[in-house]
Amino acid sequence: MAKVLIIGAGGVGNVVVHKCAALPEVFGEIVLASRTHAKCQEIAAAVERRTGRTIETAQVDADDVPQMVALIRAVQPDLVINVALPYQDLPIMDACLETGVDYLDTANYEPIDEAKFEYHWQWAYRERYREAGITALLGSGFDPGVTNVFCAWAAKHHFDTIDTIDIVDCNGGDHGKAFATNFNPEINIREVTQRGKYWEGEWREIDPMSVSRDFDFPGVGTRRMYLLYHEELESLVENLAHKGLKRIRFWMTFGEEYITHLRVLQNVGMTRIDPVEFEGTSIVPIQFLKALLPDPGSLGEGYEGKTSIGCVIAGTKDGQPVRKFIHNICDHAETFREVGAQAVSYTTGVPTMIGAKMLLTKEWTGPGVFNMEEFDPDPFMEDLNRYGLPWHVVDCDQPID
Ligand code: NDP
Repeated sequence: MAKVLIIGAGGVGNVVVHKCAALPEVFGEIVLASRTHAKCQEIAAAVERRTGRTIETAQVDADDVPQMVALIRAVQPDLVINVALPYQDLPIMDACLETGVDYLDTANYEPIDEAKFEYHWQWAYRERYREAGITALLGSGFDPGVTNVFCAWAAKHHFDTIDTIDIVDCNGGDHGKAFATNFNPEINIREVTQRGKYWEGEWREIDPMSVSRDFDFPGVGTRRMYLLYHEELESLVENLAHKGLKRIRFWMTFGEEYITHLRVLQNVGMTRIDPVEFEGTSIVPIQFLKALLPDPGSLGEGYEGKTSIGCVIAGTKDGQPVRKFIHNICDHAETFREVGAQAVSYTTGVPTMIGAKMLLTKEWTGPGVFNMEEFDPDPFMEDLNRYGLPWHVVDCDQPID
């Protein structure tokens, strides 16, 4: 039985602790640490009520490597699960290196002063992790995460060659608020306001939200989706090159209300990530905006509708053209009943637990820094069905031009 140290007591952290606690044969001991200790205690109490498990808690500033090292030395975990923010990825990876402990996260590193989503900062640790004999698993959420595993599973079982991949992400739910984001507002807004980018033999950039298509999402219906850059594109371009990949894109749906609010906030400068002087104090507008918006962890109650996320993959098998759609549908109200969280936190937190289980049970093993599609997808796919995110694979009759 293993011991895990989970960093980050937000919407996703809550789900990860619940799902790990439900599996005592793998997760023997669980410690939850975050910047605000009271949030850890709140989650620990909820998990104790639901599962009877005791969760230890601690306070830590994960930006501070010596603090993280001291915490890891005190806790002595087998694995550190990072569900804080992308800014903390490198300090936590450094602390894991110094203490010789495995590492897992759900989002790639971004520097706080530049909205730049690239793996090169974390891939730069490959050699050092290999030499230290420890493993880092990057992006074990839904997208990135499950979407990478869907692609690896399709490549293994359904395709000899892959021409195109379109990752399609729809939140068809309604939280009843005029404007709120489903995960950390700062990270979410930085992601959707950057220029769009996709790969077609080379990286091609587009203006934000300038390309859109309608798509009929199972469980939700037809929604307008917009082409965005998303981090799993970077690793999949590398790791599926051997299948002859010609194009890969990422699409996400947004409602009219969301887009209108975002446009206004952008136009008035509220999404800026650089500091501005206000009455003798320096403030970063997007961080101030985060303080005003609803906490994503609080959106669960009364949230109705479903998420529907998957991969449309086209290529060939035995010389014949094939197009498959592999997807999951998740219901906000059901996840709220199970773990007190909306489906976006749930669809992220369940794969985090499964990724951790893969490492702890040595289903996925080997020293170095890895993306999800580099390991055997089969045991992960089985666990998705077992632990709350059942998937479906269908022949797809909706080409996306
Ligand atoms: P939240 O903002 O709800 O939670 C983040 C938590 O991290 C908070 O509890 C916060 O503490 C804590 N934290 C922030 N800075 C520090 C620090 N320096 N030291 C210690 N703790 C810190 O975010 P979410 O739960 O919505 O998202 C968590 C992560 O999951 C993000 O990285 C996000 O990008 C990722 N994600 C990945 C997805 C995927 O599919 N791959 C989808 C959705 C999210 P405090 O509250 O005290 O400030």
